[in-house]
Amino acid sequence: MARYREANCKLCRREGEKLFLKGSRCLTEKCAFERRGYAPGQHGQRLRRKVSPYGLQLREKQKVRRIYGVLENQFKNYFKAADQKDGVTGEILLQLLERRLDNLVYRLGFAPSRKAARQLVRHRHVVVGNGIVDIPAYQVKPTQVIRIKEKSKNLDLIHAALKEVGRGEELPWLRLNKAALEGELLEIPKRADIPLTVNEQLIVELYSK
Ligand code: SF4
Repeated sequence: MARYREANCKLCRREGEKLFLKGSRCLTEKCAFERRGYAPGQHGQRLRRKVSPYGLQLREKQKVRRIYGVLENQFKNYFKAADQKDGVTGEILLQLLERRLDNLVYRLGFAPSRKAARQLVRHRHVVVGNGIVDIPAYQVKPTQVIRIKEKSKNLDLIHAALKEVGRGEELPWLRLNKAALEGELLEIPKRADIPLTVNEQLIVELYSK
């Protein structure tokens, strides 16, 4: 299965901001962006030239794609699906990304990063409803319950992640039962309730050319 192979921290440095791709490390002084907050590569320290409107749109798209760990073609498909639905395309795009199983495992706090959440899902530690789901892109429906498989409940990674941040408890559209290692997508989140500082309208403009 195709996946990102580039170093996570390089992606933050390329985008010029912290994308929080490495869990707790991102909050410490070990964060590469804190130490080298310029673009990677030989010319990374050159002053950035003025960015064109197209450049801005492209960077915003890349940023969102990298945050959710989605490849180019997958991302285009999400956009097409969002564009075909009634409503605000940018908001629907983010809702589709938020409903990915790996994202929800991360949001609930069962994993320190989306990348780690993807591993949990692929390695069959996660149950949705009555069965194991090992597809990170699986679209969770409202009221579906996500839980950690009985045999996997002792995994250190999960308990360390839950201790670190109570992410799932902060979001009104998620219910988290920490003791049972279980959570639920209560409803499709509204844009205002998705904690993401991006301008999704720039992505809509990029793909609408
Ligand atoms: Fe980005 Fe986290 Fe690496 Fe810092 S530690 S550069 S926030 S992935």
